[in-house]
Amino acid sequence: MPTYEYECKDCNHRQEYQIRFEVGPDCEKCFRTMTRVWTAPGIQFKGTGWGGSYSG
Ligand SMILES: [Zn+2]
Repeated sequence: MPTYEYECKDCNHRQEYQIRFEVGPDCEKCFRTMTRVWTAPGIQFKGTGWGGSYSG
């Protein structure tokens, strides 16, 4: 079962869902629209250096 990870750019809250949203789900903490975090299966980004050039 693939999971879709979304991140709130406002409070950095992350949440995984098993369904894909056309528009990001609302953040459960600040209720802003979350944006998709693109992660490749089997690849883990650890430490810093991830997110600086993220767009979309
Ligand atoms: Zn939030």
